[in-house]
Amino acid sequence: MPEPAEDVHARAVAAAGESGRLPASAVSDWEVFPWEAEDGAVVPARLRAPADEPPRWGESPDKPCGACAGFDPDRVVWEDDVWVLTHHGAPSGMPLVLVLHTREHLDMGELDDDQASQLGRITNRLVRIIENLPHIGRVHVDRWGDGSAHFHQWFFARTARLPQIMGSYAVEWDDILPPGPEDVWRADLHLVATKLANWGGDARA
Ligand SMILES: [Zn+2]
Repeated sequence: MPEPAEDVHARAVAAAGESGRLPASAVSDWEVFPWEAEDGAVVPARLRAPADEPPRWGESPDKPCGACAGFDPDRVVWEDDVWVLTHHGAPSGMPLVLVLHTREHLDMGELDDDQASQLGRITNRLVRIIENLPHIGRVHVDRWGDGSAHFHQWFFARTARLPQIMGSYAVEWDDILPPGPEDVWRADLHLVATKLANWGGDARA
């Protein structure tokens, strides 16, 4: 079962050391990071001039589609004929981070009505399954779509009772907090995969 907030907090405090601050995550070096330091204060970055957007993965010969190249079987949590649910290969700061992909190279907006209704059902089941695990506060469902052109939807489960970790900031804390134990994470993946397979498809985790 996922760890209680006290365990997550104790690991973060131990990793932070005397300063009490964990290291900045890689996200703070990304070009899109919206904050910067100025005269000791955190201020919004200056908005750069309009420019052409770079191709996404799957939109250019230089950036082939990773999903169409095949899913790493070691990362597949659950799958059926249409959908593949994956993890990132190792625990991270949040108790569970999963990504649901179509097998077919489709973007959001291109699903037919059957696929769209399947997406709604799988999303609803996954959220219910994960939110019913102990110590899970919420599952955030996110579709960004700016990195890869192949449909993928994120599920970020956050720990309950850590009041700073709310809303979209859970995504940033996922990179900041030290990862939890792998055996706990794998047991939770197995539970989620098995429960989701009650409605069809195959559990792989
Ligand atoms: Zn693709």
